[in-house]
Amino acid sequence: MSHHATLIPGDGIGPEVTAAAVRAVEATGVNIQWERCELNEEVILRRNEVLPPEIIASIHRTKVGLKGPVTTPIAGGFPSVNVALRKALDLYANVRPVRTLPGVKTRYTDVAIDMIIFRENTEDLYAGLEHEVVKDVITSIKVITRVASIRIAEYAFRYARENGRKRITSVHKANIMKLSDGMFLRCAREVALGYPEVEYRELIVDNACMQLVMHPERFDLLLMPNLYGDIVSDLTAGLVGGLGLVPGANIGEKLAIFEAVHGSAPDIAGKGLANPTALMFSAEMMLTHLGEIEAAKRLGLAVRAVYERGEKLTCDVGGACSTAEFTSAVVKEIQKQQ
Ligand code: ATP
Repeated sequence: MSHHATLIPGDGIGPEVTAAAVRAVEATGVNIQWERCELNEEVILRRNEVLPPEIIASIHRTKVGLKGPVTTPIAGGFPSVNVALRKALDLYANVRPVRTLPGVKTRYTDVAIDMIIFRENTEDLYAGLEHEVVKDVITSIKVITRVASIRIAEYAFRYARENGRKRITSVHKANIMKLSDGMFLRCAREVALGYPEVEYRELIVDNACMQLVMHPERFDLLLMPNLYGDIVSDLTAGLVGGLGLVPGANIGEKLAIFEAVHGSAPDIAGKGLANPTALMFSAEMMLTHLGEIEAAKRLGLAVRAVYERGEKLTCDVGGACSTAEFTSAVVKEIQKQQ
């Protein structure tokens, strides 16, 4: 069976890691007709639009995208393309599995980390509502709605039930933001009532960060609003070996975009140093989403096998190989399994 998918290489290390992930997907033998869309800082500035309509049209057509990071200017410039895309396509669930990989040296030598972050993806402080009220006084509005909070909680609990996961921990700051985070928590509690087999807990975000660093093995599924999800994702990536390893999915009712947690990493862009593991695992999630379960498993197992062997790893995880050398090792493993 053949599939259609939108491919957004992005910028920075995006083109390198997406090319690597495409090579790995092609090695599985799954036939994907890629609709390639250029979306990067240069295109945005030249066209003076953050989301060119042909990209939105392509994803509506293919229903699924594999995306590299797109650079977001800091303290000014155009708004985040990554956030704009998630909002424009209503990709409300951001799902990020964080797992120990064999052969990657971390500070946690004797515990296995296996958690999944479910981050609300469309609102919170990412609503983009910032104003200068009077000179030198800025407000930034945090939007939390019942509709969005219920649907991300439903998504996480349904996932737990369907995948036999045991516990969900809501992460919040409802002791301070009693109305907004209070609403998020009330919605999570309400949804939890329908899933008595899933243990439900709550942790204040600062305490959650400490517990995650001290006892990461105790966490299973984590449910949180947008901003905490963004920050905690990078924190947990650090627990398992860094941003080069953690994949992600942005899921809506009918559309989905798969992308790594990391950004465009301009410091290593164009040097052949980027670790494509996170985007390969994102492609594994995409294949599962497309119903290509066997191919997804083969891709995931091949990446893990390369780590187990430990000979062809990139610099960020202690190896000395280039993006292309690591990718060739993964492709070889996939071919071995056939
Ligand atoms: P953004 O704000 O767009 O998320 P960021 O400024 O938080 O981006 P990233 O681009 O995510 O930062 O990366 C932070 C650092 O982590 C990079 O500078 C780079 O050194 C490292 N890094 C990120 N992704 C990778 C990768 N795939 N392979 C190797 N190193 C990476």
